[in-house]
Amino acid sequence: MTKMQSDAHMHDDHVHHTHDGQACRHAEDHRRHAADALARAERICRERGLRLTPIRRQALEALHADHRPVGAYDLADRISPAGGRRLAPISIYRALDFLVEQGFVHRLSSKNAYIACLHGHGANEVVAFLICEACGGVDEDSSPAMKKAVAAIAENRQFSPSHQMVEIVGLCEHCRNAGS
Ligand SMILES: [Zn+2]
Ligand SMILES: [Zn+2]
Ligand SMILES: [Zn+2]
Repeated sequence: MTKMQSDAHMHDDHVHHTHDGQACRHAEDHRRHAADALARAERICRERGLRLTPIRRQALEALHADHRPVGAYDLADRISPAGGRRLAPISIYRALDFLVEQGFVHRLSSKNAYIACLHGHGANEVVAFLICEACGGVDEDSSPAMKKAVAAIAENRQFSPSHQMVEIVGLCEHCRNAGS
């Protein structure tokens, strides 16, 4: 209970202090696109004959409600009923595995945390994540040139990639401007 409260607090502090009262653009992006992305996830599950069970859906909604990567335990706190029992880690990890497998969510290794995907790209897309150290927001992007370069590197080493992502850590445009 106390932990949930302190988390909620930290989030407020982040938004207000880092961006001087202005809404963070990452947060705006998620607010604008979350409903579409959730509807897309539901449609894809139907098409693939998969079930977006309540816990999978709650996890996806909770990730879409935040523009920063969320760790599995933090996520379990956010979707456990208030005052109720905390979800078992195994349940949350299973739900997350499903969401990552279907491409609805990405796992950022450097943060050991998860972020909802707003883009609906293919499963074998090579994605670059731009992770802001100041506001915690994450942008993702891809390019044909990067895809070709990564394929060439893997091919050179006879390597067969399963996840292809590049994590770039630094300052987002908003935070760079705020600091200057
Ligand atoms: Zn931001
Ligand atoms: Zn994505
Ligand atoms: Zn930033």
